[in-house]
Amino acid sequence: MRKLAAGNWKMNGSAAALAEVQALLASHPAPLCDMLLCPPATLLAQMAAASAGSALLVGGQDCHPNTAGAHTGDISAPMLAEAGASMVILGHSERRADHAESDALVCAKVKAAWTAGLTAIICLGETEAERDSGTTLQVIATQLAGSVPEGATAANTVLAYEPVWAIGTGRTPSLEQIAEVHGFMREKLTERFGVEAKDMRLLYGGSVKPSNAAEIFAVADVDGALVGGASLKAADFGAIVAAL
Ligand code: PEP
Repeated sequence: MRKLAAGNWKMNGSAAALAEVQALLASHPAPLCDMLLCPPATLLAQMAAASAGSALLVGGQDCHPNTAGAHTGDISAPMLAEAGASMVILGHSERRADHAESDALVCAKVKAAWTAGLTAIICLGETEAERDSGTTLQVIATQLAGSVPEGATAANTVLAYEPVWAIGTGRTPSLEQIAEVHGFMREKLTERFGVEAKDMRLLYGGSVKPSNAAEIFAVADVDGALVGGASLKAADFGAIVAAL
């Protein structure tokens, strides 16, 4: 399976930051994994133009479940596709927390993404309180059951395990904890989607950086990373790409 290094710029970056894209493409013109950056929507078309014909894919950070209409401030999946996106991050814990996104809403967004031809990167992950109370696998099972629609394939769906307490904190789960959750996700996907599940990419996300990328990528069932802070600088993201 071809692994995936996905970067989430979140609400960061201006046109000047596109210089990082040029630097990334110069240093990694032919990476051994798929390479994706998800900038703010305002930069999507520019980033797509800057990376046209290169190994870099661009993606959105969210989409609305409808294709168009009276939804001020929202962006639809066909709009992302038209701007050059081939993937979209859905159900990120910041969206789930800041915008009260439920599993059902995430599921509807995933279907909209598929209809627009986008691959959905569906994020799952427990809070620190849930980890401490021993309910991590239960939380993952519920989110996976509710957020991943029927019809998921290796081509249209990527899952990202992102423990909420590891995002932007510099803290990461142990390699055993990552292996446990990734193995569990593979098992649950196999129950629902059969052999197709073996080719679905499972990303780990949460404080991935150049210094810990290689050991995380060596964990069973880790097929890449979803990277926040360390995706903003070409040198850091490039080092993570090179570790895959
Ligand atoms: C993220 O928000 O998807 C993320 C993994 O962030 P960071 O790498 O900064 O922890």
